[in-house]
Amino acid sequence: MKLPLQYYGSKLLRTKATPITEITPEIRQLAYDMIETMLAHRGIGLAACQVGKPVAMFVASVSPDGTSQDSVNRIYINPKILWYSAEKQYETEGCLSIPKCYVPVERPLRIGAQAMDLNGHIFEMTLEGLGATNFCHENDHLNGVLHIDRTDAKHKKEIEKALRAIKASNSR
Ligand SMILES: [Zn+2]
Repeated sequence: MKLPLQYYGSKLLRTKATPITEITPEIRQLAYDMIETMLAHRGIGLAACQVGKPVAMFVASVSPDGTSQDSVNRIYINPKILWYSAEKQYETEGCLSIPKCYVPVERPLRIGAQAMDLNGHIFEMTLEGLGATNFCHENDHLNGVLHIDRTDAKHKKEIEKALRAIKASNSR
């Protein structure tokens, strides 16, 4: 089932996610619904808070090496970034909860991360390029951090009006 999105201005986007202690049927269903919602909006990642659930889980359609958006949709539960490369990348990011606000964000080029899957298995991986950017963006959501918080003042100013408009329509 496609779930309604939370938009910029929603308190849920500023809430720190609660770790998931048990893979219940509800969590499983939430994961599948999040994938459906992400794909319906042509997104490449979606965090649970973006559909109104402040739990530590996100889904992504980008491969860890960042080279493909394949048909494998990945589910990351209680994700944790283990290390960051000193080498950075500077890419334009967007967010389904902040439509049309594309701004450049500096991120590590490579990260090491761990997460749990729907079977309760903890796995580790190295991510790079778009894979790393995407993981960092979604992981930020679980800490109540948005990509627009990480851009520079000049770009933040450029989207000020758009942000106000999203906030106004969200609080109606
Ligand atoms: Zn986002």
